Amino acid sequence: MILYDVKCSDGHRFEAALKSMFDDTPPCRECGAPTGRIPAAIKLSGTADPGPSREQMPNTWRGIRRGDPETVRGWHGLMSKREKLEEKYPELAGDRRPVLAHEGIFENAPLRAGDPLADKVAAATFKTAQPGQTEAPHTKQRHGKETDK
Ligand SMILES: [Zn+2]
Repeated sequence: MILYDVKCSDGHRFEAALKSMFDDTPPCRECGAPTGRIPAAIKLSGTADPGPSREQMPNTWRGIRRGDPETVRGWHGLMSKREKLEEKYPELAGDRRPVLAHEGIFENAPLRAGDPLADKVAAATFKTAQPGQTEAPHTKQRHGKETDK
């Protein structure tokens, strides 16, 4: 199953789980009106289907159904395709890797596309120490908060 953001003609938005990206979207949960997928922000001219855009990738723990293996695998497959596409068309990618999940067990170590999923889930679930998080004792204290963005 793949999760898509869909929107009805009245503007209700919700997530729908589809078996494949070619399935029709279900009627609106609120009002029963027909729905359509929220289109990708970036389209390639003509040739290949770029697949779901980064906006359509799940970015919540709920979005990957609390780590449901089939959902995670599905998204991982789509992301792998997307990443290959972005190697060819770097303008699609920018310089960021999408965060697939940053809630629940991924609160402290966001799940990013390209991460080894099983390792990440295991590490987050069993709260194994993440490498590179420990600070050397002689490291100078800095003022202000550092971010990695
Ligand atoms: Zn509706």
